[in-house]
Amino acid sequence: MQEQLFSSDDTSDKHRARERVEELRSLIRQYDYAYYVEAHPLISDRDYDRLFGELVELERRYPDLVTPDSPTQRVGGAPLEGFAHVQHRRPMLSLANTYTREEVLEFDRRIRQALSGEPYRYCCELKFDGVAISLRYSQGRFVLGATRGDGLVGDDITQNLRTIRSLPLVVRPVRVGRTQLTDFEVRGEAYMSRNDFEHLNRQRLAAGEKPFANPRNLTAGTLKLLDPREVAQRPLQLVCYYLDSEHVHLESQSDNLRLLAKLGFPTSPHWRLCPTIDDVFKYISEWEEKRRRLPFDIDGIVVKLDRIDQQERLGTVARSPRWAIAYKYEAEQARTVLKGITLQVGRTGVITPVAELEPVFLAGSTISRATLHNASFVEQLDLRIGDTVYIEKGGEVIPKVVGVDLSARPADAKPWHMPEHCPCPHKSKLYRPEGEVNYYCQSPACPWQIRRRIEHFASRRAMDIEGLGEKVIAELVESGLLETVADIYDLYTRRDQLVGRPGWGEKRVQNLLDAVEASKQQPFHRVLYALGIRYVGEEIAKVLADHFGSFDALCRASRQELEAIHEIGPRIAESVRNFCDDPEERQLVQRLQHAGLSFQQRKTAHHRTPLEGKTFVFTGELDAMPRSRAEELVELLGGRATSSVSKTTSFVIVGRQPGSKLVKAHQLGIQTMSESEFLELLRQHGVNV
Ligand code: NAD
Repeated sequence: MQEQLFSSDDTSDKHRARERVEELRSLIRQYDYAYYVEAHPLISDRDYDRLFGELVELERRYPDLVTPDSPTQRVGGAPLEGFAHVQHRRPMLSLANTYTREEVLEFDRRIRQALSGEPYRYCCELKFDGVAISLRYSQGRFVLGATRGDGLVGDDITQNLRTIRSLPLVVRPVRVGRTQLTDFEVRGEAYMSRNDFEHLNRQRLAAGEKPFANPRNLTAGTLKLLDPREVAQRPLQLVCYYLDSEHVHLESQSDNLRLLAKLGFPTSPHWRLCPTIDDVFKYISEWEEKRRRLPFDIDGIVVKLDRIDQQERLGTVARSPRWAIAYKYEAEQARTVLKGITLQVGRTGVITPVAELEPVFLAGSTISRATLHNASFVEQLDLRIGDTVYIEKGGEVIPKVVGVDLSARPADAKPWHMPEHCPCPHKSKLYRPEGEVNYYCQSPACPWQIRRRIEHFASRRAMDIEGLGEKVIAELVESGLLETVADIYDLYTRRDQLVGRPGWGEKRVQNLLDAVEASKQQPFHRVLYALGIRYVGEEIAKVLADHFGSFDALCRASRQELEAIHEIGPRIAESVRNFCDDPEERQLVQRLQHAGLSFQQRKTAHHRTPLEGKTFVFTGELDAMPRSRAEELVELLGGRATSSVSKTTSFVIVGRQPGSKLVKAHQLGIQTMSESEFLELLRQHGVNV
């Protein structure tokens, strides 16, 4: 991780705190998007939790910096496109989490204080590392299944959940008192066993697809599939831990678990009632060891106050109940020998040292390489070839070296120094800017950088040029046919040089040229993302494209104007400005413009665009249509629909059970509209609703 924790020396400076808060929010939003929407996390959970904890701490110290749309005030991701949306009857919350026993003690102290001496006990459960789901039953039958989404609104994934064999489609008849239990909601976790995960990932690799980082991400990716037949090919499992019914009153979480099992729901047999906090610690220690023998991943233990009346008295804070806490285990480690250090060159020229390891088995797979982040990391650990190192995975996309066993160091091991030159054929001198931890290869002609840039540009989520994958790019860069991303659009003039190369026939060349041509249809936000501007990921590219509408307008914006956008922090603003001010980048953009790529948000095919320049944000559920349809209509009339309220929002449309966006609208003095006013506006502009 390169992001540094906010050090206590700096906290007196409110201004810096504000900047850091903005930066943390922007980072967390990007990580959330990768994790919740794409199911491919960019950083480890531990690192994410550290950043999140830093934000919580800063907001605690400076309460006036808290905004309703801060990640600390909301749960999970957003509902997805492609699924119908479901309003949860009760919010589906997250859990406060900790990695330390001191904080569990602190949690217990708060409970004791809040219950002022009343007896209480805990119900401890395994924390399944999967995806939260809600299941609704009516007349004893499974009728609706949903994801957590943003906690208030989730996605309707009923058909996908039906493929889980252990999910009861009809429940067993059970009476509670005089009531036959038939109408209720159950909450639980969908997950996948480690074996099934390994098996599916091997299949994906063989098919040339990107493997998932861990079973949790594979589960999330599976539940998002739009075709239930595909879901049925992937062995998902289910565990349930909560039942909610208007018709019966349950006394405790433990009763809840017993009842679920009676009704035929899969529950974990490993829960335990703990009368004291010492018993909680015993349970935590026991499972720290035993979890390795489970066929699935748990990432910790959930400690819940058992009695429901006591839970209700404690209530909830913004995103989690006060009566529960998750104790998370540190990621699993392995020990192995460092055989060498190689350098990897990224698309911005950043150099990442990579540990070449004696292969070792860790949390379900064999690891032979791990990231060393940057040269200062290697220097700080004083890593030497031949050293015995510790590596961690635990939710990581790439395993990382976290420590070194100095007692096992060979006598002749020599300190490692960053090589002076890039490993690429140009061997340009490496450079470390003042105050940075990273070294860079400065040669714009470095073929490795060029390759990475083109790979990013052509990748599926950017310009999506089929047939222009890693190998082809390496070949075309090496042969001098591609030097910049703009050269891709000149390939047709070099058809003769392409045809006849080993493995390249007429048809293959034509397919590639067709795919290049087709990519010109990609919308502006994708082009913006494809350019690979530092810190401008997919989500930020969308925000910028929506806000400015064109590349020219974006480049006219000052840093201050950029930073005025809610999602943009100083780091992103600076990076965008640097890109726009760089004559080489401008020239590249010009070439891409001439090639016919879209540097302007496309106007919808209407002659009149009555809502042009107006930005709409929706909050709450609409009766007349799903939100996605309402947003489409706004865009059809030339307006923009965005997901968060900022100073530039024109109207906030308020549906049923509006969320924090309404509060924000009031705070910023943004005009609000009821659903009927909104429908009227649409009708005025000729939309038949
Ligand atoms: P969480 O996973 O830490 O805890 C809450 C969830 O635990 C519940 O929603 C429920 O789904 C689950 N759970 C499992 N067993 C349970 C049980 N027995 N009882 C009750 N709940 C149980 O919180 P979250 O809000 O789902 O996700 C936030 C976490 O996700 C972060 O703390 C972080 O670790 C991870 N995350 C990582 C990234 C990343 O980039 N790596 C990004 C976003 C979130």
